[in-house]
Amino acid sequence: MNAIETLKYFNSRTDAMIASMRELVEIESPSFDVSQSAIVVNWLENAFRGVGLDLHIERVPAKGYGEHLIVRAFPDEAKPVLLLGHTDTVHPVGAKLRNPTRIEGDKFYGCGIFDMKSGVILMLEALRFLAETGTQPARPITILLSCDEEVGSYTGKALVEQESEKADHCLVFEPSANGKVKTGRKGTGMYTVKAHGIPAHAGLEPEKGASAILELSRQIERLHALNNIPFGTTVNVCTASGGTTINVIPENAECTVDVRFSSLAEAERIYDEIYALEPFDARVSLEVLGNINRPPMERTKAVIALFEKAQSAAASFGYTLEETQVGGASDGNFVAALGVPVLDGLGIAGDGAHTLDEHILISDIAKRATLVALLLKD
Ligand SMILES: [Zn+2]
Repeated sequence: MNAIETLKYFNSRTDAMIASMRELVEIESPSFDVSQSAIVVNWLENAFRGVGLDLHIERVPAKGYGEHLIVRAFPDEAKPVLLLGHTDTVHPVGAKLRNPTRIEGDKFYGCGIFDMKSGVILMLEALRFLAETGTQPARPITILLSCDEEVGSYTGKALVEQESEKADHCLVFEPSANGKVKTGRKGTGMYTVKAHGIPAHAGLEPEKGASAILELSRQIERLHALNNIPFGTTVNVCTASGGTTINVIPENAECTVDVRFSSLAEAERIYDEIYALEPFDARVSLEVLGNINRPPMERTKAVIALFEKAQSAAASFGYTLEETQVGGASDGNFVAALGVPVLDGLGIAGDGAHTLDEHILISDIAKRATLVALLLKD
């Protein structure tokens, strides 16, 4: 089946795909909600079993979060392609009353539809396509859907790494950026800097005090000076607090620092700089907590090659695919850190991730599904 016929197939499947997306979105599944996670995973396991392939399905319980789901298809000796996604959303149960699952023109609204339940349906439909058309994919397929991605992949990370190590390459079904796939994601670091000074009466003997707030404010200038925008490094103090009341020289103050970087070298440079901070006032001591959180997903040659394949697959049915690099991290960052090429942001075009305006574009569903099918086929 050629690209145009594949697009026709998915055009004819669009209504059924919309119905599946609606059902999946209607099962609200915020991170940490174990019982809702089980309902989503039940629904998905049933749906995967219905595609008409001989699948190996594994449910991995994650205490306090829910269940991860692993689906393996077309097993053989070759290294599989890993399709990565998550079943948790940021929206609490009841949010669907505020962003009802509905279609308005080309926009299909729903909580978690863009990030990333419609992406999960793309994976399901890709398997159905292979089954119904008798198409043999280029490689075995492993699908991993974690249940704690939105809250830092505390339990999912090990599974992501375990499956990545076996994989030839990885396709991540996170939301696209206006339809663009993501060939680079910054890594993240999270730090807290604390200053401990000497308290004193602000009126009677301020000279005996050493202000933690003054010290911290000077350190904040230093932290911001670490920004290196041309290198893709950003350092931002995002919260700050300190002191007890108006007439006391503050003994304590602290701030949190959001760090983003495009290379591990920069991540390490910033780590070293933050841990090497020295107080301006020798009477004040500094304490640093925190670390590199997610490594960057670098735009390597292998990633560019993967993107170019996807771009020419898209062009074969008249679809324009572009790439972008973004500041936000995903589980794709963990995969990239192991040296496995990653193409991220394969989800359907849309907007409003993590908000009550979340939606996808119906006109992109069949095209994106076609792109995925072609990527698996070749
Ligand atoms: Zn997501």
